[in-house]
Amino acid sequence: MNAPESLPLEFPVFDNSFAALPETFYTRLAPQPLPAPYVVASSAEVAGLIGLPAGLLETQEFAEIFAGNQPLPGADPLAAVYSGHQFGVWAGQLGDGRAHLLGGLRNPQGHWEIQLKGAGRTPYSRGADGRAVLRSSIREFLCSEAMAGLGIPTTRALCVIGADQPVRREEIETAAVVTRVAPGFVRFGSFEHWASRDRHSELQQLADYVIDTFRPECRAAANPYDALLRDVSWRTGELMAQWMAVGFMHGVMNTDNMSILGLTLDYGPFGFMEAFDAGHICNHSDHQGRYTYRNQPHVAQWNLYCLADAFLPLIKRPKQAREAIDETYGDAFGASFERLMRSKLGLHSGLADDEDFVGETFGLLQQHRPDFTLFFRALTKLPAVLDGETPAKTDAPLRDLFVDRAACDAWLATWRARLAQTPWPDGERQAAMRAANPKYVLRNWLAEKAIRQAKDKDFSEVRRLLACLRKPYDEQPEFEDYAALPPDWASGLEVSCSS
Ligand code: AMP
Ligand code: MG
Repeated sequence: MNAPESLPLEFPVFDNSFAALPETFYTRLAPQPLPAPYVVASSAEVAGLIGLPAGLLETQEFAEIFAGNQPLPGADPLAAVYSGHQFGVWAGQLGDGRAHLLGGLRNPQGHWEIQLKGAGRTPYSRGADGRAVLRSSIREFLCSEAMAGLGIPTTRALCVIGADQPVRREEIETAAVVTRVAPGFVRFGSFEHWASRDRHSELQQLADYVIDTFRPECRAAANPYDALLRDVSWRTGELMAQWMAVGFMHGVMNTDNMSILGLTLDYGPFGFMEAFDAGHICNHSDHQGRYTYRNQPHVAQWNLYCLADAFLPLIKRPKQAREAIDETYGDAFGASFERLMRSKLGLHSGLADDEDFVGETFGLLQQHRPDFTLFFRALTKLPAVLDGETPAKTDAPLRDLFVDRAACDAWLATWRARLAQTPWPDGERQAAMRAANPKYVLRNWLAEKAIRQAKDKDFSEVRRLLACLRKPYDEQPEFEDYAALPPDWASGLEVSCSS
């Protein structure tokens, strides 16, 4: 028997659990069609997570579905409402101004929700156009998958679909839709929304939804809502440590961009640290420098206090809500950051003075501004003992990143003395350090190069970058060009909230 020309495609079965919440939580509405869509890039890994038929990827039907032109079988599209604090100021009601949740499903790999970003206006668009441009969609797509490759909790991205429809930003650009996939998209601001309106019943419904869907273990606690708050606080602390350890800067850590599940959420003007400066502002629109690299752990805690205040009606005892943060966040961040820094520096086990040594290391970085990623990756190549060789020869990979070689040598002497206190064979230590210090991160200039080509309809660079960023800790000599310092043309690159 001959195979039929087009095989029937088996779509995953949706449960749409968020849509089962009362309609006060969202507005049901279909995405707005985008004429003549095309596939810019897709992630087979994410397609696998949600059980999409492999034969669908990259087809015209795929482009039509994820542009929002053709319904995904079983979907029940909606835009959710939330509020939030933006740049430290209460902003009132926000919501999915350009995101459509298509639906959710549960499979052996977890609970997944599928969301289009940029598929048209919603009741929460606040006068904006509901669209996203190709530039920012490629950035979100690549960074979601890059963070997943780094092993950092994040929303994922299935694809970017482009279209020639013009979209007005500082200049005219073209429209795109990025499909995000995550266990859930509930934000700190989703809770602040109901608390700010004294709508305690909805507040509790939302908390119950999060607990029942994602954190059933919280039910066993004396106060499940207190347990949920502590869970969010703990995960957020761990997430901040992970961001800091790879030099990731989110750029817009408003409470509406903070995930209740501890995921990296809403990629906009993010950046990865290059020449180290703890005061670096990656978002050109952040005039006060609220979201600098060094501020991120403090801002996350401030955001958690906002969440704790929103949880007050559920926890009832006022002091207890903020206490839940104080008793978890610092410990989670501190323990994770210490563990990650120990791995990055190749320390086999912890010693009492390690915090000082880590501080000294950041002091060196701040004073001499080497490239953050290259510094730690170069360190993985160095032996624990000089063994008669000159530093000029043995330590060249690291020394070459410094103008002041003597400063580098002095720090290396301290590092070697510290290594000697907890000996670890070089081969093993170096392999462990490589697994903690990525060779490849999504540098702005790499994203920019891929975007410039994509604007000319050449998507090969987006795809090549994606392939590289899947395995950021591997050597991958074929991608050596992606591990380079930013070229001169990239020195003026600025990223703003415009997306
Ligand atoms: P962001 O700064 O990207 O987190 O966005 C803040 C809020 O503005 C969110 O509620 C977004 O949904 C909304 N928003 C941003 N850009 C647009 C747009 N082009 N159209 C509609 N809503 C938007
Ligand atoms: Mg946002």
